[in-house]
Amino acid sequence: MNPIKMFGQLILKRKSNNMKCVICKTGTMHEGKVTVTLEKNGSIILIKEVPAQICDVCEHYYLDEAITGEVLKRGKEGLLKGAELEVLKLKVA
Ligand SMILES: [Zn+2]
Repeated sequence: MNPIKMFGQLILKRKSNNMKCVICKTGTMHEGKVTVTLEKNGSIILIKEVPAQICDVCEHYYLDEAITGEVLKRGKEGLLKGAELEVLKLKVA
């Protein structure tokens, strides 16, 4: 079994105020929504509207651990359906 691949510049980071981007070291993170792409065995899962912290300079994004867990859970559900391409919206309670 291959592990699920997650595309995008995913870096796990706990939320904090005025967080500086660790990639470019100049950008500041702000709240936003990103689309996360997961791929496994030729199946692609797009998960839209994932809350993230996005760098205003280089646009790298960060998901916190709870969101990452939810993304992977939804991704697995999509993969279990066996669809080649599944597009989901993340609903966070
Ligand atoms: Zn940056």
